[in-house]
Amino acid sequence: MASNGYRNGILKGSVKVEKLSPSSNPKPSSIKSKTTSTQVSSVRRSSPASLGGVGSGVKGDSGVPGRVRVAVRLRPRNAEEQVADADFADCVELQPELKRLKLRKNNWDSDTYEFDEVLTEFASQKRVYEVVAKPVVESVLDGYNGTVMAYGQTGTGKTFTLGRLGEEDTAARGIMVRSMEDILADICPETDSISVSYLQLYMETIQDLLDPTNDNIPIVEDPKTGDVSVPGATLVEIRNQHSFVELLRLGEAHRFAANTKLNTESSRSHAILMVHVKRCVKGSEAALSIENGNGSHMSKNFRPPLVRKGKLVVVDLAGSERIDKSGSEGHTLEEAKSINLSLSALGKCINALAENSPHVPVRDSKLTRLLRDSFGGTARTSLIVTIGPSPRHRGETTSTIMFGQRAMKVENMVKIKEEFDYKSLSRRLDIQLDKLIAEHERQQKAFQDELERITIEAQNHISEVERNYAEALENEQSRYQKDYKESIKKLEEQWMLNQQKLNSDRARVEVKQEPLDMGLAVAELQKSLQNEINLRKAAEEEVNSLKSQLVQWRRSEAVGNAEVLKLRKLLEDEEHQKEKLEEEIAGLRSQLLQLSFEADETRRSLDRGGSGKILTGLDSLMSQVRNSQIKDSGNGQKAPIVNLFEQVGLQKILSLLESEDSDVRIHAVKVVANLAAEEANQEKIVQAGGLTSLLMLLKSSEDEMIRRVAAGAIANLAMNETNQELIMDQGGISLLSMTAADADDPQTLRMVAGAIANLCGNDKLQITLRGEGGIKALLGMVRCGHPDVLAQVARGIANFAKCESRASSQVWYSSTGTKAGRSLLIDDGALPWIVQNANNEASPIRRHIELALCHLAQHEVNAKDMISGGALWELVRISRDCSREDIRTLANRTLTSSPTFQAELRRLRIEC
Ligand code: ADP
Ligand code: MG
Repeated sequence: MASNGYRNGILKGSVKVEKLSPSSNPKPSSIKSKTTSTQVSSVRRSSPASLGGVGSGVKGDSGVPGRVRVAVRLRPRNAEEQVADADFADCVELQPELKRLKLRKNNWDSDTYEFDEVLTEFASQKRVYEVVAKPVVESVLDGYNGTVMAYGQTGTGKTFTLGRLGEEDTAARGIMVRSMEDILADICPETDSISVSYLQLYMETIQDLLDPTNDNIPIVEDPKTGDVSVPGATLVEIRNQHSFVELLRLGEAHRFAANTKLNTESSRSHAILMVHVKRCVKGSEAALSIENGNGSHMSKNFRPPLVRKGKLVVVDLAGSERIDKSGSEGHTLEEAKSINLSLSALGKCINALAENSPHVPVRDSKLTRLLRDSFGGTARTSLIVTIGPSPRHRGETTSTIMFGQRAMKVENMVKIKEEFDYKSLSRRLDIQLDKLIAEHERQQKAFQDELERITIEAQNHISEVERNYAEALENEQSRYQKDYKESIKKLEEQWMLNQQKLNSDRARVEVKQEPLDMGLAVAELQKSLQNEINLRKAAEEEVNSLKSQLVQWRRSEAVGNAEVLKLRKLLEDEEHQKEKLEEEIAGLRSQLLQLSFEADETRRSLDRGGSGKILTGLDSLMSQVRNSQIKDSGNGQKAPIVNLFEQVGLQKILSLLESEDSDVRIHAVKVVANLAAEEANQEKIVQAGGLTSLLMLLKSSEDEMIRRVAAGAIANLAMNETNQELIMDQGGISLLSMTAADADDPQTLRMVAGAIANLCGNDKLQITLRGEGGIKALLGMVRCGHPDVLAQVARGIANFAKCESRASSQVWYSSTGTKAGRSLLIDDGALPWIVQNANNEASPIRRHIELALCHLAQHEVNAKDMISGGALWELVRISRDCSREDIRTLANRTLTSSPTFQAELRRLRIEC
């Protein structure tokens, strides 16, 4: 390890730069060896300094920290940069609390460097002085050499930091001024002295800034001690701050003048201020020093004065920017080299020291030679590197920082890649926020609950208090009432006593007055007696009249009671009757149900055993009746219908057709239909108004079943000629036509078609029937397509045609001799359907149509239409193929008797 510290290291070229750790501090002996001629004491004040603890670790061991302390200072953006770099971030980012500086390489990457102190653009001059220079100054006052250097690109604030005079603004004072203040404050003017030299180094020439004529001053080195001096330089003794500031001002002025003369710039030169402090060591401090040293042999009286010499060197270095070798600033390459020679030599020395190189090229430049005893070793050295914020000078700033780093002998500062992950930070914050929100919600809920609880409690409390209050009030009231009553009672007693007393008094007084009032009192008594008698008489009269009234009332009451009894009896009879009637109705109902059940059963059995036989009757109900009749004749039992008829009476059954109860109506209409199926009943039914009721049902009932059964009943009744007329009279054909148009159910249509078919068989009704749309209704029902319906339609047509042919033959051969017109059936468009179905495979349809065709053909006037409608072919077929002989014959006869048909057959060469 270096025993003689920095200074000796430079001298010998073999000593390393000391590290920060106290253990590496040189031993006190090294101090002594340096100061052999001046006997510097090793006892020193501890320093409050912060720049790497220059003063720390010194106490007690007198060690000298050898490491160059390096601070970095950032200049704030100047006016030009504020405009030019407005859109850009600074090229550095300072973390003063971590003593770190981040140098942005680009938008996403930066290098981090650590310094002994990081001074932001806001750092005050005072603070800069205190952390950078003050420890050095104190060290100088303690007798060491000390150096403060500013290194950096031109315009970054080296001169600002070191040389500001601060006359206009005391806060702006730089390190030079403040150092002198501290030194002046600390020395004793009587015994101590301060002298100052101010030099400029430009192109390896030293100039005296305090005497411009003094040019090219040589450096003198003491080969023994290694002390460096510039004896040619003006040395001015400083007595006070004012003289020092004047001196600095003078130096600045000369510097400006010299640079103008040399046609150069201050930024190319180094300014060096040397302050020599000579102090007299006194009192116990000196004694202590002597005891520790070699003063023990000396007598107190002959002791020589002890002096401490310290030298402070403040160096405002030339701008660190590289000079363009092409000579853009008007310098030759040689010039450029020598301008920067000192600076590059300084860099090389620092590098060598930092790398523990055995050779430190101190002699390469005047600057390094001049600083040899002031840089390291026993000297305290502080370097302040100044940088600007502009990203445009990133290169220069980087090299400045690297210089500083090397000076710290931390060549490869660990580059902390420490990008903040703002996304995860945001996530973390979000989570935290959510937690806080949830917590807040919980707290709010709890608060509300609490509030509610308190409210309820308060309400309970209030009601309790109110209750208590009411109770107390009541108690109080009753107490008052009791008191009040008691006092009233007392008062009454009192009053009674008083009254008694008063009465006895009055009695005494009256006894005295009696003889005087006697006469008057008797007259008055008589008068009131008379009054009393009158009143009594009136009352007696009143009583008597009331008594007679009472007797009268009693009598009329008896009469009334008898009346009531009579009425009650009547009511009872009525009720009996009603009960009987209700029983009867119930019986009837059950019979009705029974009957309809039986009817349904019978129908079902019939349907099952029908075996394809054509029921020429109209209704299944009818068939049921027939069936029951057959049954009757078989076993001699009375049919239930007849029973019913006899038991209930037709009128009643008919009245049930209008019952409110739809079930009753249905059963009733079924019963009526069954009855109507029997010829014997038909007349009675019609007489009892049954036909009208049935027609009404057809008209008004919404129930399809009722309309179907009613239509069936009407069809049955329509078998009778008289009834047919009645039906027509009561508008039956329109009602049936309406039902035919509305209904979809084939059974309903079958009933309606059956009824109309029956009506079609009445000669007298032909015109009306056709006029009221009967034939159209009949033909309309073929839409249903059901064979049963079609059979009824065919039957109707056949009936109608038969009547027409009868009428025509009568007319034809009648005495009137008038010709009848064409068939109404043909007029109403029945012919196509007739021809279409003439050979229908269902025999009931086929037979009726065959008959109809024969009837139509009998009337010569129909012949042409029949031929054109294709009916002739059907007639020919019937006459040849019909299985029923009577029809075959009829057809034959018809064909042969009609001249039109004959002519046509001849024309077609058909043999008939
Ligand atoms: P250098 O000596 O490094 O060439 P200067 O000290 O001449 O730089 O500073 C250049 C300019 O910047 C000057 O106008 C100076 O007042 C200003 N300046 C430098 N440092 C600061 C600072 N820390 N705060 C404010 N202005 C500064
Ligand atoms: Mg400057």
